[in-house]
Amino acid sequence: MLIEVKNLRKEFAVGGILFQAQRETVKAVDGVSFSIKAGTSLGLVGESGSGKTTVAKTMLRLHEPTAGEFHFDGQDVFALPRVEMRKLRRRIQIVHQNPNASLHPRMTVMAQIKRPLQIQGIGDRTTYENQVLDMLNRVGLNPEHARRFPHEFSGGQKQRIAVARALITAPEFVALDEPTSALDVSVQAQVLQLLRRLRSELELTYLFVSHDLGVIRYMCDEVAVMYLGQLVEHAEKPKLFANPLHPYTQSLLSVVPIPDPTMRHRDRKMLTGEIPSPKNPPSGCRFHTRCPHVMAHCKTDEPKMKEVESGHRVACHLYE
Ligand code: SF4
Repeated sequence: MLIEVKNLRKEFAVGGILFQAQRETVKAVDGVSFSIKAGTSLGLVGESGSGKTTVAKTMLRLHEPTAGEFHFDGQDVFALPRVEMRKLRRRIQIVHQNPNASLHPRMTVMAQIKRPLQIQGIGDRTTYENQVLDMLNRVGLNPEHARRFPHEFSGGQKQRIAVARALITAPEFVALDEPTSALDVSVQAQVLQLLRRLRSELELTYLFVSHDLGVIRYMCDEVAVMYLGQLVEHAEKPKLFANPLHPYTQSLLSVVPIPDPTMRHRDRKMLTGEIPSPKNPPSGCRFHTRCPHVMAHCKTDEPKMKEVESGHRVACHLYE
């Protein structure tokens, strides 16, 4: 496996700026484990506040982990000293949700895509500009775009620039954090097509974070579903879409449009209530406050992740 995440936990202290005693702990990610094979794509899906973005950022050490392990190609990433971590960044990259926030407004496209090459000392400085122009071509932009500034581009073009900057160091693993959710619907499909083509051309491995199961279905080989900081189901894509087991996954899937007009619509299983606060998650199964199949012991006993068929794991007392 290229990627192995074991029992990842990330807590944040919130509140109590003046008084330490008033501080509360938010368990944004609480014991998440998964692996990704080289050249494949894992989709991490869940509602806003489920902790999926925190998983990606913690793996990249944009947040320091509270506990757990992340092994990349056999290296224990969380144990790496700062200098080694900086070197590893050429092999593991992230594309953020909002290119307006991730691109530097006063640097030309050439300067900001070239920057990772300079920081990592990759290649010969006389070839940097040609490498950038090649990468612009790969992401569907023109050589004349290199001299312009981010504000001169549309949202879709800005995200292409952000993708070019992430890929310029030839990484093997890319975390994509809701890469199209800030874009107009009309350009989302083009950027998704681009990301799919790049994955195949460059033999990339993706962790694709999204709240949209339709997007995940288009992009990914496997799907992991998160609820309130924990994984509740993880399966190969065909198994998850044909036979979702966890009541939360069933509810998410029931509102995804079916592309085939000859097929009947699924029964919608709308969730009631808001996702509870991760400051004070429900006891037992965290989904019990919204689950239509809740049983008495769901409120006290936390279900463990269990493999119910090859390539399909679920954490729910219905399958014990
Ligand atoms: Fe619902 Fe119980 Fe399964 Fe949780 S463990 S999803 S409450 S049936």
